[in-house]
Amino acid sequence: MTQMTIIAAAGAAIPAQPFAGRHLIDGAWHDSATGETFERRSPAHDVVVSRSALGAEAEARAAIAAARRSFDSGVWSRASGKERATVLLKVAALIEADVERMALIETLESGKPITQARGEISGAADLWRYAAALARTMHGDSHNTLGPDMLGAVIKEPIGVVSIITPWNFPFWILSQKLPFALAAGCSCVVKPSELTPSTTAMLGGLLIEAGLPAGVVNIVLGYGPAVGAPMTTDPAVDMVTFTGSTAVGKAIAAAASGTLKKVALELGGKNPQVIFADADLDSAADAVTFGVYFNTGQCCNSGSRIIVHEDVAEALVARVVALSRQVAFGDPLDPRTQVGAIISQQHQGRIDGCVRDAVAAGAEVALGGAPMTVPGLAGQFYQPTVVRGVTPDMAIAREEVFGPVLSVLTFRTLDEALALTNDADYGLSAGVWSENVHTCLAFCRRAQAGTVWTNTWMDGFPELTFGGVKQSGQGREIGPYGLEEFLEVKTLVMRIGRSRAPWVKTL
Ligand code: NDP
Repeated sequence: MTQMTIIAAAGAAIPAQPFAGRHLIDGAWHDSATGETFERRSPAHDVVVSRSALGAEAEARAAIAAARRSFDSGVWSRASGKERATVLLKVAALIEADVERMALIETLESGKPITQARGEISGAADLWRYAAALARTMHGDSHNTLGPDMLGAVIKEPIGVVSIITPWNFPFWILSQKLPFALAAGCSCVVKPSELTPSTTAMLGGLLIEAGLPAGVVNIVLGYGPAVGAPMTTDPAVDMVTFTGSTAVGKAIAAAASGTLKKVALELGGKNPQVIFADADLDSAADAVTFGVYFNTGQCCNSGSRIIVHEDVAEALVARVVALSRQVAFGDPLDPRTQVGAIISQQHQGRIDGCVRDAVAAGAEVALGGAPMTVPGLAGQFYQPTVVRGVTPDMAIAREEVFGPVLSVLTFRTLDEALALTNDADYGLSAGVWSENVHTCLAFCRRAQAGTVWTNTWMDGFPELTFGGVKQSGQGREIGPYGLEEFLEVKTLVMRIGRSRAPWVKTL
């Protein structure tokens, strides 16, 4: 490997004692009935950083029952918007006061750079604050045009008990895209984080208690998908499942939940294109492409993992991206200079490498990287910044999620061709367009099959702006006002005013 920027071990102290996670059920902390635990080793440092109670069906059922009882009691589901908002705002403040402690464990469990973990935790606090605002402002519709003796209303009610199943790539952010919105709506919840990154979710449990959330409204069970997650998708006491993760597991969850016709919201994978036209500002585009593919080591549903670039500027753009890639600081996540950290697991590292090898075997060419790398002083797994060009639309690397720091380069000649390549995908999470011509940008935005389209930018997001995918990227929406709607049921009220109703039964 030549001329890449590698940050060697920073020598930062790792807590001597692993974080001890337990289940939060009905307002109290519990070990598992079996007494079993599981360990998480830091993917960058290869030392044990957390030891958690290993949940099973018993803990999942107990958590679901607690959530059901709390919902039916009305302690939260019938609380006023003001009461809910007060608690959510306290949680936001407590998260902000705890950023350092949470960011450290997030970094140690996920391998992401400490600066990005801090950004994730403090950004998540803002999602809690935004959801608090929604708790007080949500409302239904009134119908005052039904005639002199009728009034209609459509009111919103919490959907009920919600199972929340989250992945390892943005453990605290993704949880905060769901949980505060469910709570703002008045739901009770059971949460299962990924077994790879359980600790910030468990830490949040402590903050919820401190903020005064009534017992049983949020329950957290730690453990694996088949043992803990599966009952959360089939138990008749659960009304809705919201899941972020792989498309394969998302489909399995939708099938499992169909037995009791639960509502299912899914945030799944993406093969997100950035389309760069010949008139684009190439410096800005190259920087955004570099950010889009390496952010979170590419382990990101929104990864800009394929670029579709106009033939006339393809060589110039790829040269810029390769040059920038050499400058991106890969290495020890605990060093504040690091921009890209470790790969989540050895198994996943092998998968990423396999995708690159398959692409080369299919005729693509590696312009940069293309192999695992070592970081001096660290025993964990890292992968080189990788650019693969000469990719054709039929290759697996152009169609499937790599979920690693690997960019695929395709080329086009016309707008129609760019759109055909963009839409020739099972996924439809996000897309981007780069051009100085507003007509080109608008035409692209309207015809791209994606839940989000960025124009001359990439991966900017706000609590106000909803997020979600089309096609096999999922169903339902998160954050923004639509994110709240997911957790609401509507009820129609039809009211007669006075005694004007003509009797149905006639006297013959
Ligand atoms: P999964 O989809 O396997 O897991 C996500 C969550 O679902 C985890 O909490 C997992 O538990 C849980 N789960 C697994 N099986 C079930 C089940 N049958 N019922 C209920 N819950 C279940 O993602 P992985 O973490 O294994 O990652 C695999 C691939 O998924 C990645 O390589 C990537 O391509 C994609 N992915 C996409 C993400 C996105 O944001 N769209 C996020 C993460 C991954 P546990 O793992 O603890 O057993």
